Amino acid sequence: MRLKLDKKRQGQYDDPGPIRDRLFEDSYQHQGTELDDCKDCCDADYTISRFERGEPATRPTDEPSVHFGNIASSNQLQISAVERHRVHLEHEAICFEMEAAGVMEEHPCVVIRGICDYADSHKNKGWQNYAAATAAAYAKGLLSMIPAIDVTDNGKTANASSHQPATHSPNVTFGSQNSGQQAGVINGGVHGAVFGRR
Ligand SMILES: [Zn+2]
Repeated sequence: MRLKLDKKRQGQYDDPGPIRDRLFEDSYQHQGTELDDCKDCCDADYTISRFERGEPATRPTDEPSVHFGNIASSNQLQISAVERHRVHLEHEAICFEMEAAGVMEEHPCVVIRGICDYADSHKNKGWQNYAAATAAAYAKGLLSMIPAIDVTDNGKTANASSHQPATHSPNVTFGSQNSGQQAGVINGGVHGAVFGRR
C-alpha cells in the first residue's frame, strides 16, 4: 500500500525504528509538556530497550508483529503505566483504544488497531502514521481473505445469523460509559503483552 504513494508521502509512513521505540520504566514520568518529544526532555537512561524486553519485543525494521487478544476500550485517554498494568493483569488486555466499544454496540465487528504508544505519560505522535498504515494494511489483507457476502434487506447480510457476538470473549472496558464485545473468538498466540520491567 505504501509503495503506491509518492516518495514524500511514503516517508511519512516509515517504521521509525528501534531507536525511537522508547519504553520508559513505569515510575519515570514524562518530564516535558504534552507536546515535547521524549528525546528532548526525558532521560534515556530510564528507557528499556527492545533487547532488554526479550525476544517477543525484537523484530526487523518494517516487519510489524501481529497480536491477537483482548483490546481494552475506553472513553478516557490511557496515560498511566500503573493503570496499564492493572488492566492488563485484570483483563488480559494487550492494548488500549478509545473508539471501538461505542461502534461495537451498534455493529458487531473485528477491531484492528495499530500500536503507536505505551499508554503512559510519554504518549506522543511519533508512531501514529506507521501504526495507522500497518493497521490499514492488515485490514486490507484480512478482507482479501474473507469471502464476499451479498448485502440485502437494507444493510442486513444474507447470513446475518452467523454474526453473533461471542459471549465468552468480551471486549474489556475501563471507562465510565463504553461497553462492547469482541465479535467472535480469535485464534492465535498472544505475545508481546509484557509491558515494562517486572
Ligand atoms: Zn517522555
